[in-house]
Amino acid sequence: MPTTILDGNKIAAEIKAEVAAEVEALARKGLRPGLAVVLVGNNPASEVYVRSKVKSSETLGIFSLQITPPETVTTEELLAIVQTLNARDDIDGILVQLPLPKQVDSKKVLLAVAPEKDVDGFHPLNVGNLSTQRPGLVSCTPAGCMEILRRSGIPVEGQNAVVIGRSDIVGKPMAMLLLNNNATVTVCHSKTRDLPGMCRTADILVAAIGRTGMVTKEFVKPGATVIDVGMNRVSDPAEFRRFFAGDKKREEAFAKNGSTLMGDVHPEVAHVAGAITPVPGGVGPLTIAMLMANTVKAAKLRRGARAAANAGNPAASNEVR
Ligand code: NAP
Repeated sequence: MPTTILDGNKIAAEIKAEVAAEVEALARKGLRPGLAVVLVGNNPASEVYVRSKVKSSETLGIFSLQITPPETVTTEELLAIVQTLNARDDIDGILVQLPLPKQVDSKKVLLAVAPEKDVDGFHPLNVGNLSTQRPGLVSCTPAGCMEILRRSGIPVEGQNAVVIGRSDIVGKPMAMLLLNNNATVTVCHSKTRDLPGMCRTADILVAAIGRTGMVTKEFVKPGATVIDVGMNRVSDPAEFRRFFAGDKKREEAFAKNGSTLMGDVHPEVAHVAGAITPVPGGVGPLTIAMLMANTVKAAKLRRGARAAANAGNPAASNEVR
């Protein structure tokens, strides 16, 4: 059976179209969802991420506000920015772009974001809501992985799922979402014994490691679904050739750009897996789509009932979930 390539761009476009329709419906009630992004300093990778988040917001009709404190910002100054955004009624989502500079207490800053505006799903209250299956805002990348599975018709219930990586941002919420959807879940990390053997038990294998091409075909049961969360930039020509020699399209792009984006999964896995997300064009686009969806969800939860009442249609407040 040929491997199915799970097209993240296509799925993200579907979600964004749904979000745009919701934004339009909310606009008719006089509500425009708003997203504030706090970008500290001049980290080029963070600048790229933030640019695409702001651009997506604007395309979908979401109000977007960008705040750019200098690299020298203190924890107290950032806390004050977050408190101001917490108090603003036109801001439904607050995203503090990570990583923050060394002098800043990142945990303290993330904890200060009002849980109902925590569109990244990082606040302990939202983490707790997820693990106790209560409604709340869920971390965008793992939520996007679940959308890929759901919208591609890949069953989760009763499947063996293995997640490599246990970060608060990806691995742990990913494992929790799979568990909440009735998969049998194993979480692996750097201290796991016989990692390839563990991974070969997976019907669904999620790689969120940050190690270029580490997951080789020895890790994958034939026919398994492989979700590659990794985003690693390869700029060393020897390393590039090791992974992509003979791949004409990649070679042309590498010659032009001097680097290529690659996941945690080795290209050879595409010959073994039943379905696989590419990098780029797999999980990445879903992260932004889910951020947009979370912003609209946060707006509806916090302001939806009020907007419906203001529009002279109190019954419509029941629509807000
Ligand atoms: P992270 O915080 O560095 O966590 C990496 C995890 O991988 C840790 O749990 C670590 O184990 C584990 N690990 C590292 N080396 C390992 C090894 N040799 N064997 C087994 N496990 C190993 O990274 P993250 O924030 O979760 O991100 C993971 C990857 O996803 C990165 O490439 C990141 O760029 C990418 N990412 C992509 C998106 C997207 O939108 N596509 C979003 C977020 C992140 P220990 O806990 O034992 O150290």
